[in-house]
Amino acid sequence: MPNESPSSTRPALTLSSIREGGKRAVARALSALETDEASPAIARLLDDAARSAQAHVVGLTGPPGVGKSTLTNCLIRHWRANGERVGVVAVDPSSRFSMGALLGDRTRLDTDPTDKDIFVRSMAARDRLGGLSHEAVAAIVLMRALFDRVLVESVGIGQSEADIAFATDTVVLCIQPGSGDSLQFMKAGVMELPDIIVVTKADMGKPAMRAKADVEGALSLTTQKEKDWSAPVLMVSARDDTGLQQLIAVIDQHRSNLLERDQLPAIRREQAAIWLLDRVRKKFGDIGLAQIDLQKEILRAGGPFAAEQAISEDLTKRLMNSMKAK
Ligand code: GDP
Repeated sequence: MPNESPSSTRPALTLSSIREGGKRAVARALSALETDEASPAIARLLDDAARSAQAHVVGLTGPPGVGKSTLTNCLIRHWRANGERVGVVAVDPSSRFSMGALLGDRTRLDTDPTDKDIFVRSMAARDRLGGLSHEAVAAIVLMRALFDRVLVESVGIGQSEADIAFATDTVVLCIQPGSGDSLQFMKAGVMELPDIIVVTKADMGKPAMRAKADVEGALSLTTQKEKDWSAPVLMVSARDDTGLQQLIAVIDQHRSNLLERDQLPAIRREQAAIWLLDRVRKKFGDIGLAQIDLQKEILRAGGPFAAEQAISEDLTKRLMNSMKAK
């Protein structure tokens, strides 16, 4: 259904047109999200996508070199062999300073370019810590309506885990043996965020066992975010192909756990509200935020993305009026 203004000469970007257009249409839509962020048609598309969420969204995070890309490749291979359509958002922390993702669309993932059911997008991080940019969140929301699985790979060295937890259903945190990462994570207060913790490179032997014991020790001191799920600590070696099947199974168990308890709609509503709060605060500060009832605006506008545009317009107008009055 066209939902563009009559003056527009381009065909409307709708979920069904993107689905019909395949990978090229997905790529075009993602570019439009980045270049045309303020357009009402984009907000409508994103709100429609937010309502049509179908994928299981898995966040994979951890420090550089821990083995995230290697695990991402393994997960993609498994899901594709299972016939699942997979979208990947790879967040590149260094690219903010070079204007665009350094790794390009290829990243370090070895996917089959002729496979129409795997789509990889590299995106710039919001900051040096690997936080998710607005474009990355929008891409996740869109891909979530198009694929069966969406994998978000992001470098995390503390704070950025929080971002990934607010945009995904299942958070997998990777820990490198011999790195003291668990102490680092505990200090940063992020140990309660992951749903699954993976000690990578289990083939390293003793340091890997020690890392597992450290993580379990750190976990015992934190409160888990959900009482019906306590984060398991898994040992995985991509090199030796050990623990991978267990990881895949536990990722699915976490999803089943959320589905059985009917948690996903509430999680996604909360994520949308947090996203909107963050956006309004960044643009208009706490003073602007205090003037808005976010839930009411989401209901009135029909979704968080249209609400964000309406709020921006409203607060900008109010700001202009108060400046004129002075
Ligand atoms: P990322 O930076 O977190 O994405 O890490 P990569 O997946 O690029 O891996 C970093 C390095 O660790 C590479 O040299 C990999 O070959 C290596 N690596 C990944 N998985 C394993 C593993 O299971 N065992 C060992 N010994 N090395 C691994």
